Amino acid sequence: MNTKYIFVIGGVLSGVGKGVTTASIGRIFKNYGYKVSAIKIDPYINVDAGTMNPLEHGEVFVTEDGDETDQDMGNYERFLDTDLYSSNYMTTGRVYLSVIERERSMGYKGKCVQVVPHIPFEVIDRIKKAAENTKAEIMVVEVGGTVGEYENILYLEAARMMKLDNPDDVAIVLVGYMPVPSHLGEMKTKPTQHAARTLNNSGLQADFIVARGKYELDKPRKEKLALFCWMKPEDIISAPDVESIYTIPVVLEKQNFGQLLAQKLKFKLGAVKKNNEWDKFLNKAKANKKPVKIAVVGKYFATGAYTLSDSYISVIQAVKHAAWWQGAEAEMTWLDSEDFEKDTNQIKKLKNYDALIVPGGFGTRGIEGIILAIKYARENNLPYLGLCYGMQLATVEFARNVLNLADAHTVECNAKTTDPIIHINPTQAKNVSKNRYGGTMRLGAYDCNLKEGSKMAKLYGAKKISERHRHRYEFNNDYRSQIELAGLECVGINKETNLVEIVELQDHPFFVGVQFHPEFKSRPTRPHPLFLGLVKAGLIAPASPK
Ligand code: GLN
Repeated sequence: MNTKYIFVIGGVLSGVGKGVTTASIGRIFKNYGYKVSAIKIDPYINVDAGTMNPLEHGEVFVTEDGDETDQDMGNYERFLDTDLYSSNYMTTGRVYLSVIERERSMGYKGKCVQVVPHIPFEVIDRIKKAAENTKAEIMVVEVGGTVGEYENILYLEAARMMKLDNPDDVAIVLVGYMPVPSHLGEMKTKPTQHAARTLNNSGLQADFIVARGKYELDKPRKEKLALFCWMKPEDIISAPDVESIYTIPVVLEKQNFGQLLAQKLKFKLGAVKKNNEWDKFLNKAKANKKPVKIAVVGKYFATGAYTLSDSYISVIQAVKHAAWWQGAEAEMTWLDSEDFEKDTNQIKKLKNYDALIVPGGFGTRGIEGIILAIKYARENNLPYLGLCYGMQLATVEFARNVLNLADAHTVECNAKTTDPIIHINPTQAKNVSKNRYGGTMRLGAYDCNLKEGSKMAKLYGAKKISERHRHRYEFNNDYRSQIELAGLECVGINKETNLVEIVELQDHPFFVGVQFHPEFKSRPTRPHPLFLGLVKAGLIAPASPK
């Protein structure tokens, strides 16, 4: 079978749920046994998401091959249980950059290089290459933004050209929003009708509409949308709000969406895999409600729950996955570390939690408060997982309060510290001094050898693991023997570079810092060992001071 391409395009408003729709369509076909992959197209000029403020743009999701991408890529990986690569992600900046570079090296052989057709051609090349790289039978392509914007028009043009060439291999799904104005109390279809018309202006007809909204779409409205958008009522798929995003593939499948897409794309679907891993996971997640209370401490957390959940979406999901697989439901609370700095008594709040996470971060703000929280976890047997910055700051805390190196710090916060327990290597120092910020951190998957007999080796059930990185600073090996002698063991090492990747405190139920980001590899169907370890320890340890 030729690779089938399903374009997912948004209408009416952003944040309508295109990413989850894309991931869910992929999951449906995965449940039928197909090889599925996904592409995210971001219409902005940034070459990657690495230089963007996560509070504005959401999490930067790091791929195995070290690309700094959009958080939607995380949803795809979680739903599809597959690794995605740099080729699965593109931005306008990236597309233009390669066209311009090719022009400069005579790659267009003296032709006048134009926005149309050369930009859509480049987009099509990239989409096809991604399908080739991942050997996808089904490739779901999410076009960022909404129809009617200038920004994504060239991507719609690429979709149009692909469909014109191979009408049976390309399907167009429009995700529209159905508002329910409070003064009317009824669901309105008009904004989505307009979106479908706007899509027509780009030369595309929606094959399907996924109707997002608070409630299910009723029959009269389905018929109305169908009539005004030149479609059949069964091609309008209702996607109401649900409690868990992971149930959306089921919601869509109940309306036969997989079969309808297959008919449109002229292939025979076969039978869905019985008792597939997705069903098993959903059953597991349904059954459990024992709460496990996790505190997450960091800076900026006062900004509001919405932005926050976007900035740390993979951490949140990883905790949830681990809880579900252990008969629990994670309750996560975000604590602003600056509150601990203003009033150190506030640290006692931590006694109300079963476990503590300090996630990744940058810069000096709120750092002393974070260090106070880590100290509390260490001294009070509170299960602790430090992710990247959370690992670095755990070593700073330990150096200060156990090794009595009062000035110990990461050079990111204090360049002149007498005890730089976290330091920077010369290449990275040069990057910073030359303002070379884009794509220059230590990025992507690196191997890590686990110390034999360590708790970590048991937890992972492996001697060697691979995890994804995104950081500039590293643990300073000059302090290795000192911290190990005092009880903070370096149990994970990268063999090639001798860099410390995991530290673990002895005589503590669970106190682990990792230089990498395990959250990027947690899947609902395969929770991550470190988050399982943390949640397990949290469920055992009573939520009270020791
Ligand atoms: N700021 C730290 C560094 O650059 C940690 C980064 C992170 O937590 N992702 O090394």
